[in-house]
Amino acid sequence: MVSDGTLTPEVLAERAQTNGVELWALTDHDEIGGQHRAAAAARAQGLKYLTGTEISVTFANETVHIVGLGFDPDNAGLLQGLRNTRGGREQRAMEMSDSLAKAGITGAFEGALKFVGNPELISRTHFARFLVESGVCRETSEVFRKYLTEGKPGYVPHRWATLQNAVTWITQAHGIAVIAHPGRYNFTPNEEYALFTEFRAHGGRGVEVVTGSHTRQEYVKYAETAREFGLAASRGSDFHSPDESHTDLGALPFLTGELTPVWELLADRIQ
Ligand code: AMP
Ligand code: MN
Repeated sequence: MVSDGTLTPEVLAERAQTNGVELWALTDHDEIGGQHRAAAAARAQGLKYLTGTEISVTFANETVHIVGLGFDPDNAGLLQGLRNTRGGREQRAMEMSDSLAKAGITGAFEGALKFVGNPELISRTHFARFLVESGVCRETSEVFRKYLTEGKPGYVPHRWATLQNAVTWITQAHGIAVIAHPGRYNFTPNEEYALFTEFRAHGGRGVEVVTGSHTRQEYVKYAETAREFGLAASRGSDFHSPDESHTDLGALPFLTGELTPVWELLADRIQ
């Protein structure tokens, strides 16, 4: 709600409860301003809750997402770090708009802003919604394919936090850091190995194995990676909105038995 999801924490908590979710974490991009409200909404539904966020990191010229779970939502270092990493989004959005204008699509910055709840967090998703609304594309996945990914006219690379920064902010706030949807990055095997090795060295503890962004083969592959690197395993829907997300809350398969779930490391942080 404070980044690029479309539903409020209350509606999400109710949806999670209806779908049989037992433990929920709201993970806005680079922002934790919705955490107290989400925890209260979970409590009202009788749903267990862990604090969450998803921090954008630049690693080997790619954007990698690091999920933080079970941290103190009032931790000053984490709040300041996230504020810094959000700082560059508006500038990048203006550059994306200029770039789209050169491809014949005008007014994209203002158009995207209409979809933004929190102006500090304007993201590619907001541009995608504007391009669908204005009839340039039929759906957001088409916008990403044609405009918002590397090599396409509306794509502007951006330098986010470093891997070390993101892991450290989360860990110092007493949370655990988790590599989000590793199957989505275009890394060579060597780069992926470096990501996992450095992540561990900085104190990272988990990896998303079952997520809406992974195929079944990737569940198996990253379960193996979790074992190889001694990481706990996470499961996340990456649910953004009923219209855009393929995977609903609570719809994914369970983690297989031989993995240690991240929530076992966070038993004392569950609210
Ligand atoms: P940003 O942080 O501005 O780079 O935008 C990231 C957002 O774009 C996240 O919410 C992703 O879920 C979404 N996203 C990234 N790639 C795609 C894609 N290929 N199709 C749909 N959404 C995507
Ligand atoms: Mn993500």
